Amino acid sequence: MKNLETEILIIGGGPAGSTTALYLSKLGFDITLVEKKPFPRETLCGEFLSKEVIDILKDVKAFDEFISQKPNKLNSFRAIDASGKELKSDLKFDAYAMKRSVFDSILLEKAKSVNVHVAQPAEVISTIKTGSEFDSIIEDSSGQIINIKSKLVIAAYGKQNILDKKLKRGFVNEKSYLNGVKFHLPVYLLESSFSEEIRIYTGDELYCGMNQVSDTDMTVCFLENRKHSKIPSRERLIEVIKSNSHFQSVFSNEAIEYIKTVNIYGTGNIYFGYRKVIENGIIMVGDAARVISPLAGDGIGMAMESSKLLYEVIKPYNLDTIHRDKIYLNYKKQYENVFNKRLSTAKIIQGIILNRKSRKLGFGIAKRYPSIIPYLIKFTRSTKTT
Ligand SMILES: Cc1cc2nc3c(=O)[nH]c(=O)nc-3n(C[C@H](O)[C@H](O)[C@H](O)COP(=O)(O)OP(=O)(O)OC[C@H]3O[C@@H](n4cnc5c(N)ncnc54)[C@H](O)[C@@H]3O)c2cc1C
Repeated sequence: MKNLETEILIIGGGPAGSTTALYLSKLGFDITLVEKKPFPRETLCGEFLSKEVIDILKDVKAFDEFISQKPNKLNSFRAIDASGKELKSDLKFDAYAMKRSVFDSILLEKAKSVNVHVAQPAEVISTIKTGSEFDSIIEDSSGQIINIKSKLVIAAYGKQNILDKKLKRGFVNEKSYLNGVKFHLPVYLLESSFSEEIRIYTGDELYCGMNQVSDTDMTVCFLENRKHSKIPSRERLIEVIKSNSHFQSVFSNEAIEYIKTVNIYGTGNIYFGYRKVIENGIIMVGDAARVISPLAGDGIGMAMESSKLLYEVIKPYNLDTIHRDKIYLNYKKQYENVFNKRLSTAKIIQGIILNRKSRKLGFGIAKRYPSIIPYLIKFTRSTKTT
């Protein structure tokens, strides 16, 4: 076994992990980030990037690298119900779309460029606090075991993780039945193109978001309650498309054939409820801290904002035990202040959209009073958005 020491260990190299590393490196800490997958890698996501993301990319000086990868600019949104009822709105803020394989690589490369030590592919298999320090066990791709001692551990490992069970987090046995699936579709297979629009198709217990993410590809991302459906995701996707004539009209027959073999990325049992942001002394950021409903909030933006919030909290302190206690207390308090209202509004909107009766009512109200749409958008995002 190899033994290493670092001041801060970050678990996960998604948007939350890389952004945390970028911010904390400004404070001069020795940081090690461990990412279990080789990059570039795809992951479940609608791949919509909000204004919060753009602001933070500028703040960590990664915006030029982002633009050089040609993200697709979006300027409007349209929601279409199974009955064909439509809601439309301009976005009124800068938004883009880009494949996660590209986006996450930009941030992780940027973290490497500011001297963050990155171990990849390597997995953190356990982490425990003994006295005032943490002992974490890491396994790299060759099977080598490394023991890393650190003063702080930041978990940026996403919404579901084996470490949640090891930490006995309160929500691990909760069942949500919400299942997400994403795939990329070449735009030439679509019957109509809408390159600057985010489109959302809603149905009973499901919705599907579509954004164009590059000159050639469209992201198609479903979220569905699978409590009563045992059909495999791929067959269910095709069934859903065929069951809604408005939705089906977007796809050519070749597109349906393509979906039968395309790579799909999915996760089941996505839990949107309460989680503690500090567990056994480990600080949670991004989805590990809390998952926002993707229909009404922007998870990547919130993940990166939680990284920035943690940086602001840590900035006046060092990592001595007495200071760390203040960091724990302040992060918990400020996380609740900044995100709680946004999280609960997003959860309510998701509940309305998934339910047939309340969705019908919601569409009716929003159609009659369209000014409510930007107001709701404001509540599910940072207050700086509108
Ligand atoms: C259906 C759906 C659609 C969505 N659509 C959007 C959208 O359009 N726009 C948006 O802004 N957000 C969207 N989101 C939310 C967004 O995907 C997440 O909020 C975001 O990925 C969170 O980033 P993260 O860094 O916290 O976690 P992740 O992106 O999950 O990254 C975690 C990283 O940690 C690594 N890891 C895990 N365990 C370990 C370990 N033990 N050791 C080392 N590494 C580890 C993983 O390999 C991964 O790279 C959507 C979510 C869902 C469910």
